[in-house]
Amino acid sequence: MIDFHCHLDLFPNPKAVADELERRRVGVLSVTTTPSAWAGTTRLAKGRSMIRTALGFHPELAGARYRELELFDRLLPETRFVGEVGLDGSPQQRSSWESQILVFDHVLTSCEQARGKILSVHSRRAATQVMDCLDRHPGLDKIILHWFSGTKPELRRAVERGCWFSVGPAMLAGARGRSLVSEIATDRLLVETDGPFAQKDHRPLRPWDVTDAIDCLADLWETTRQRAAQVVRANEAALLTP
Ligand code: MN
Repeated sequence: MIDFHCHLDLFPNPKAVADELERRRVGVLSVTTTPSAWAGTTRLAKGRSMIRTALGFHPELAGARYRELELFDRLLPETRFVGEVGLDGSPQQRSSWESQILVFDHVLTSCEQARGKILSVHSRRAATQVMDCLDRHPGLDKIILHWFSGTKPELRRAVERGCWFSVGPAMLAGARGRSLVSEIATDRLLVETDGPFAQKDHRPLRPWDVTDAIDCLADLWETTRQRAAQVVRANEAALLTP
């Protein structure tokens, strides 16, 4: 099983979490929030087989870190995975909206040219604008919308574009999240934790807590935990096949 969106580098003790991943044989897509975080975060993957590091540019940092776009382009050939990238339409992020669009469009252009990249995309309160940006880059076909929280029509648009969805225990804990997930084809679903930001019972989710998401999916699909895990594993394999 793979946690497809986790901020491994932001845990208080990332090395201990990384070692535990190896022990439990749980995979993780270790997303970053800025290109300058790449160097330190990839070190966590060295000598460990369960970690893949993604090169990121979080929308909340797009305004302040705009100059790191050059570094993003320089590092892009080093990885197949890109994230966390996207747009955030929350009121607190309004002042950086123009920068967010510039950064996200630039990232998408670079990824489209590079080919074969897999992207973990943030779309909080900006699902329509994220889809508008994606429409300008039809060559990108492996887009994972992480913790999708848009409307049903926005969800349908993303489904029609062929997007993948990574869903976690926090999203599946609410009726709204579960209702969205029930409209996504089972062959497009992956699991994530968004730890350590996302929490459960007042403690940060750790990558191996993706099993909670599997339990929720089993419940939603009215099947066993084993069968749900099998479906998600098959999806992971399909997504990762070049
Ligand atoms: Mn995140």
